[in-house]
Amino acid sequence: MTVKQNTRETHFVFVFLGDEYAVYWSSDLVPTTENNQPYNYDSQEKPIKHHKPIERSDINNIVLDIAEQNLTGDMSNLHLALADHFGTNAEDVLYIAGLISQELDAPKTGKHPITTQELNLYRNILDNRYPDFMMREQCKSYTSTKIIGQLYRSARRAILRWHRASRTHCSLRYLQAAQIEDENQLDDDVYPLHQSKTSKQPNLNEPTLKLDPLLIHSLSRQQQNWARNLFSAYRENLKNIISVFNYQDEIDLFCRCEALDQLSPGKQDLNISAGLELQRLIETTRRRFYYEFDQVKNDRNYRALHDDCSRDSECAQCLEIKLARAAACYYVCYFDASQQSAKARSRILSFPWLFGTLLAQLKERNLQKRQHQQPSSKYIVVGRAMRDMAKRLIENKELKLKLFISSYDTQMGQIYLRSIRAIGEKNVYAFKKDILERDQSTAQMLLSKILFIEIINNWMERQKIFGVELDVTVKKPLIPEMCWHALLIEFISSNNNDDTFEQNKVVFQTNNHPIMYKRYIEYINHEISTPTNDFDSSMYKYSIELIQICFRIARDRKSIQYAYLSEYLILALQAIGIEKELNDLSIDIDN
Ligand SMILES: [Zn+2]
Repeated sequence: MTVKQNTRETHFVFVFLGDEYAVYWSSDLVPTTENNQPYNYDSQEKPIKHHKPIERSDINNIVLDIAEQNLTGDMSNLHLALADHFGTNAEDVLYIAGLISQELDAPKTGKHPITTQELNLYRNILDNRYPDFMMREQCKSYTSTKIIGQLYRSARRAILRWHRASRTHCSLRYLQAAQIEDENQLDDDVYPLHQSKTSKQPNLNEPTLKLDPLLIHSLSRQQQNWARNLFSAYRENLKNIISVFNYQDEIDLFCRCEALDQLSPGKQDLNISAGLELQRLIETTRRRFYYEFDQVKNDRNYRALHDDCSRDSECAQCLEIKLARAAACYYVCYFDASQQSAKARSRILSFPWLFGTLLAQLKERNLQKRQHQQPSSKYIVVGRAMRDMAKRLIENKELKLKLFISSYDTQMGQIYLRSIRAIGEKNVYAFKKDILERDQSTAQMLLSKILFIEIINNWMERQKIFGVELDVTVKKPLIPEMCWHALLIEFISSNNNDDTFEQNKVVFQTNNHPIMYKRYIEYINHEISTPTNDFDSSMYKYSIELIQICFRIARDRKSIQYAYLSEYLILALQAIGIEKELNDLSIDIDN
């Protein structure tokens, strides 16, 4: 694929030559700078005419030449290194970029634009110094200040944990195994009978049938004996049909009865008979299933469950019985099948599907139930990590937010902001040593949000990432603490008010009001001792919200500081996701 950049307009012209391609488009990544002059691709000389008939040796020579002399890789590397040194618009860099285009076409034009020796002349300019992101171990590496270098080191900051994730228990294989384990656990809970029976050695060579945990009903155990009787009658009759009409197994029987039209005339009669037998068996079994709801009306010796209930319409109570029976039918049949080899002729799976509508209804209901429960398991990792941190903050007496909690509403609280003023011309902010004005309280907010701020602020301070000057070449670029406070204030107020931006600081202090402190700790202890879905999902929600606000500020203000701040926030979440706790940055950038 050749990409040509259109000069006047800000879009790209793609020339597709049948290659595979993928375009990732994010408006954040599209440069807003003016497009550069494109390479004049058609200015090359025409290929030299071959004035005699082409022979095999000519072809051989061309192929060998292509194989021997491909310098595209070398040229691309050289271009990357030169561009990092001198910028993409430097004359030499542009020249090499053009040569790469020509070299790419060398197999077609037969013309190599540069020799290895000439290339070395350019390489000498580098003096063997390569940007760190090229990872040239044998060369003198330097820290690139360009965006690729910054992204490279950003990736390095995250890589240790990713390594750990792929090596240890968080690997995909482990997750898959854990998932299966969870599901099995569910099976055992709802099928207590299952457990005792499966204790006999399962056949590991055969894929065993796995029972669907969503096809369960709380009353199905009471119906199991009833279902077992119905099943054994069905099974015997079905086996009879299979052997009398000489079918392979139930699959063979069902398939051939389904496809009567396509069979040869000779065998058709037999199949029709079998089909009729099967039809009769299904109807009998269904009649027995619904006996108490419907057919019983015609039986004088038997009293119907309810007068108004029938096979097709029922009250809530009867529906539960029907669903429980269908679940029991599924269980007895599939449990039986799970004990047999998948190829066993006697294995039967069709039985519960005579009541498939009920099973579908049951599964849908259980699925909905499960979806309602989902938030609890979904955010437990974040919730647990935050609770652990909260506990540690209490133990270490590190709770520092200045706050107000009233005696009548112990779920809400207010925190305080303190104004700062700029000193000096360099726009360096500092605290007012003597605070003449009183701290300004925020609006009421949930204590969970306050605790979240406390925890994440404690983590930020522990990472020692605050400083005055941002240096992108160090392994942990420092960001002004003001950025962090401005982000927190946006997070608290959730309004994008430019007037107050970077004018205030959230008040953290060591000596807090004892009554407020007591109420605060009571609240936290309560959250720690009784884990709730609400707490877990709100911690998740706050984390996402904080990062999104940070992204927005970074974008709106084109601020590299906020971009780095969002990176640190992501690393905090990475710690929770991989290590299951909010522990410190582990940076590997030296080697
Ligand atoms: Zn009823």
